[in-house]
Amino acid sequence: MPELPEVELVARALDRLVAGRRVVSAKLLRPGLAPETPPARFARLLRGRQFSRVTRRGKHIIFELDAPLILIAHLRMTGRFLLLPAAAPLPKHTHALFRLDDGRSLAFSDQRHFGIMKLIRTSELNEARELRSLAPEPFAPDFTPDYLRVAFAGTRRTLKETLLDQTKVTGLGNIYAAEVMFRARVSPFVAASRLAARRVPRLHRAILEVLGEAIAHGSTMNVDPEDIDGSYYGGPYEGRWRVYAREGETCTACPARVRRFVHAGRSTFYCPRCQRR
Ligand SMILES: [Zn+2]
Repeated sequence: MPELPEVELVARALDRLVAGRRVVSAKLLRPGLAPETPPARFARLLRGRQFSRVTRRGKHIIFELDAPLILIAHLRMTGRFLLLPAAAPLPKHTHALFRLDDGRSLAFSDQRHFGIMKLIRTSELNEARELRSLAPEPFAPDFTPDYLRVAFAGTRRTLKETLLDQTKVTGLGNIYAAEVMFRARVSPFVAASRLAARRVPRLHRAILEVLGEAIAHGSTMNVDPEDIDGSYYGGPYEGRWRVYAREGETCTACPARVRRFVHAGRSTFYCPRCQRR
């Protein structure tokens, strides 16, 4: 499942590939992908519009268009943008298709059907339900150890649950949260509000380091929109995980073995010795 580094790299690639391109036609093939915009309206609003920029907020991809219009897309589990050469066959599970003025098409394919899109006016961006409650961006100046301290104080949940809550910390999912907690040597099971004050700056630093490294090393998924036949899985960062998916292996920092704890169908990987508190 794409987390901040994957979405960041997808947004950067799309910005490079489609900024400046005009939409000749737009088709919503699975109406449930954009439940608030019927297919006819989707087509009408996007036809003739030009992509000016593609950015990211949390795990959302933000396509800025002239008009001024914004298309918000969330990849969820398996959503993927593919840039198709002219006359290429549509990928399986194509749920939206944008024909571009250079003859190519941008397809959104989504095997599991959890992806979501929304069209809004640019002036509505800050009030959009999807975005308004998100925590500050990890690399923004307002995401500080003090911010984290306050965010943690106001919750009764465990540290892991809190790191996954996009209104507290945005961008982390199951993989990078595990890596962050390992790097900061903190237990996933401690109550966030009980985390010792001196550990908060360490956790803050670990968030920036883990996300920064994953972005620098190409993340854990194949995020290249031009690699149409390539598998979605197995990005270059995958081999660098320290605890995620390493159950039973020796910890990279001590002789203990990495453990996996399963709760509500989700796995938590951790070192019982390095991450005692
Ligand atoms: Zn260890």
